[in-house]
Amino acid sequence: MKIICIGRNYATHIEELENEKPESPIIFLKPDSAILPRKNPFFIPPFSNEVHYEVEVLVKINKVGKHIAAKFAHKYYDEIGLGIDFTARDVQAKCKEKGLPWEKAKAFDGSAVVGEFYAKENFDLENLQFQLIKNKEIVQDGNTNAMLWKIDELIAYISQYFTLKKGDIIYTGTPAGVGKVSENDVLIGKLDGKEAFNIKVK
Ligand code: ZN
Repeated sequence: MKIICIGRNYATHIEELENEKPESPIIFLKPDSAILPRKNPFFIPPFSNEVHYEVEVLVKINKVGKHIAAKFAHKYYDEIGLGIDFTARDVQAKCKEKGLPWEKAKAFDGSAVVGEFYAKENFDLENLQFQLIKNKEIVQDGNTNAMLWKIDELIAYISQYFTLKKGDIIYTGTPAGVGKVSENDVLIGKLDGKEAFNIKVK
């Protein structure tokens, strides 16, 4: 399986990082080795002094597809979830400065937290609230109604470039409020009020 991530899909997060608003979705990949095993803590990697959390709604692909039209995209997923796209922001800044790919900053071991998945029928996908709670404080509070590209549009766009396969996961971008993690932080993700993950940082 592969993980396809979308960058800059919420205007508020684009503003906080002083990025330009993209004309089309920004795509990058994480390998399956990036997935943080269930129940494991997240260890801050030694090559970074500034790892940021980015809470994101996840979409799990249920069958193979290529050149999927947005109006049929809903047939390609039954479940959605919540996860974290951990980002070594200092490493990413260096890559950006030199115009280099971001993989060292985005695709390292443990950088993909994958929480619980739920049947999509249980939610209003166009108006879905999700939160990241760090040490009991809400640090990110997002709603899918603020996405620049909706889930079905993302699937249509991604599948022009990459064949989507059963089990692939799409990270749909983070809202405002990203920030640094420190040792002993506890990160809890909530999707429509349901606890989707609970991660300890070491
Ligand atoms: Zn992200």
